[in-house]
Amino acid sequence: MYPRPFRYHRAASIREAVSLLAELGEEAKLLAGGQSLIPLMKLRLASPHHLVDLNFIPDLSYVRPEDGLLRFGALTRHAEVEASPAAQQIPILHDCAAGIADVQVRNRGTLGGSLAEADPSGDWAPVLLTLPTEVVCVGPEGERTLPLAEFFVDAYTTVLRPAELIREVVVRRPPPGSGGAYLAVKRSAPVYATATAAVQLMLADRETCSEAGIALGAVGLTPIKAAEAEAALRGQRLTPDTITRAAEAASAACDPQPDGRGSAAYKRALVGALVKRAIALAARRARGEQVEVSHIYA
Ligand SMILES: Cc1cc2nc3c(=O)[nH]c(=O)nc-3n(C[C@H](O)[C@H](O)[C@H](O)COP(=O)(O)OP(=O)(O)OC[C@H]3O[C@@H](n4cnc5c(N)ncnc54)[C@H](O)[C@@H]3O)c2cc1C
Repeated sequence: MYPRPFRYHRAASIREAVSLLAELGEEAKLLAGGQSLIPLMKLRLASPHHLVDLNFIPDLSYVRPEDGLLRFGALTRHAEVEASPAAQQIPILHDCAAGIADVQVRNRGTLGGSLAEADPSGDWAPVLLTLPTEVVCVGPEGERTLPLAEFFVDAYTTVLRPAELIREVVVRRPPPGSGGAYLAVKRSAPVYATATAAVQLMLADRETCSEAGIALGAVGLTPIKAAEAEAALRGQRLTPDTITRAAEAASAACDPQPDGRGSAAYKRALVGALVKRAIALAARRARGEQVEVSHIYA
């Protein structure tokens, strides 16, 4: 189906994009990669009267290492993260970027668009929640920086205010002795996940976990930070018992809905299995092993 008619506006700067949004009001939408918005418009589930295109704003697409941080422009494509040597130094980022949908979607879809869309099944949110991540937003009142943990309000809803946009996503690099892994079960490449688990660990020695970040995707209205699962690992030796306790806590933390991808019980069990596996992979990477991780297609 064709979308309903709309007016196209090409913003030349962030300032212009913000003032267009402020002037055009609720009937205006930002256009980034278009990989969520355009299908919704074609299905007529969204019918904005105005599109404000971000794609011609200079310097909105980059992966920039700086003083222990990695800065991502909002318009950075999933494929650019996948190919970035700086991002590859944090393997969980590469696990995520390389597995999102298919190559066409990865070449167009953006990190900023993905977070702003707040799709409960989106891959970036759980991954970035396991790392210290901040979102830099710009609106009519100026710029503000928020922890990602405070960004999601509900399914498809964020704390972004009217006429506010994401300019940059900032990730603090994990310290030495850290490793992470992201696992997503998908029925095939171009569909969203049935369930996902992101785990980022820091080991004090080769066996004891000094810090843990665990987040789950596609099993609740927002990405879920599994605090009790993290607590089950923190300060503990990584034995089969502690890993099982963390996996059980993660299963208990999720709130999956039954749908065509599986029953709630199936998804809960899947989360437990994914967390167990992701902990083992993250620990191997924290010990310095090079481990290939990819999405699971089942
Ligand atoms: C077939 C298919 C399969 C997919 N599978 C997956 C998947 O498995 N995992 C996954 O994570 N994603 C998947 N996606 C979605 C894809 O990752 C999108 O790229 C992403 O969700 C949205 O990014 P975008 O740049 O395309 O945003 P757009 O579609 O352009 O915009 C999405 C929303 O965000 C707003 N927006 C965009 N940029 C900003 C900004 N900088 N600041 C504020 N608001 C902004 C827009 O106004 C719009 O409301 C899939 C998409 C398709 C078409």
